[in-house]
Amino acid sequence: MTVKLLEAADAIALVPEGGSVALKPNLVIAGTPESGSTTHPGVLSGCIEYFRAHGVKDISVIEGSWVGDETMRAMRRAGYDKVCEKYQVPFYDLKKDRTRPVKTAIGNIDICQRALDAGLLVNLPVLKGHCQTVMTCALKNLKGCLPDKEKRRFHALGLQKPIAALGAALKPRLTVVDSICGDLDFEEGGNPVQTNRMYLGTDAVQLDAYGLTLMGLRPSEVPYVGLAEQYGGGSTTLSESDIIELNHPSEAAKYPKPRGTVASLIKNVTEDQACSACFASLVRALYSSQYGKGVDISIGQGFKGKEFEGLGIGNCCRGASRCVKGCPPTAEAIVNTLQDMAWGQ
Ligand code: SF4
Repeated sequence: MTVKLLEAADAIALVPEGGSVALKPNLVIAGTPESGSTTHPGVLSGCIEYFRAHGVKDISVIEGSWVGDETMRAMRRAGYDKVCEKYQVPFYDLKKDRTRPVKTAIGNIDICQRALDAGLLVNLPVLKGHCQTVMTCALKNLKGCLPDKEKRRFHALGLQKPIAALGAALKPRLTVVDSICGDLDFEEGGNPVQTNRMYLGTDAVQLDAYGLTLMGLRPSEVPYVGLAEQYGGGSTTLSESDIIELNHPSEAAKYPKPRGTVASLIKNVTEDQACSACFASLVRALYSSQYGKGVDISIGQGFKGKEFEGLGIGNCCRGASRCVKGCPPTAEAIVNTLQDMAWGQ
């Protein structure tokens, strides 16, 4: 499917003469593609075969997992080690890369050099749900091009504006969306929704605007897409000729919609600038435990230095009358605390 898309788009024309190609998948956590969390390794293989067949010699895979996970563990879990070995393509952990400050609409952002210096940065996101930003696809996938300290700062800045500013700064010229079986509720996967679908475009903002329509979301539910347009990252105007796709559903209504599982789990959660890994631990705990129902929970960097009644998640909430410590804490620790509370301990 990937080779077909790249051929239909004549993607080789986007690579500068003698330039390199850096493939940027979604390896947010150590999860399998079948779980709906990470980009399928076949998408990488397809890209490598296509660009190599067209004479590109310098091809690499670049990614940095979220703050709570090790990139190399995630790359093995998704099967990328076998792909890289088969094609003799290097994989670079962006958590270890050098960075350069790039001027953006919200001030300087430190971005990893391998993403900035690629002849062609090929963005390979998964279309899926996200427990904080509702949807993640082309623009949000670029957060993996940041060092961990910038990822944390993005959360402190409220995510929406920084994601939009990063998209406008990096402006990848090619994005291939893996919508084969993304989890439409949760970025960590677990409930994949099979659509066997892929699409490609040259405007990450437009592809995200298209993703919103596929997931049945309103633009106001995912503000960073419109903001990215304001910052010069692309256009939200949809034109069929701009997006090349495979396996278009014959009727839009047939495309599965998010089930709202995460939204119902976090009804009693007050979030203020929580890191993704922290928030995901909480969602995982609430998903697997019956004891979280009705408990008022606070989470996020915005609670640092504050004293308050109730359950706080993570070291930022040390001032809570009860706190699950860790940065981020594990889901298991949260489940244990919820159980202790339910049993009056
Ligand atoms: S405790 Fe959680 S929200 Fe606070 S810095 Fe650590 S991971 Fe982020």
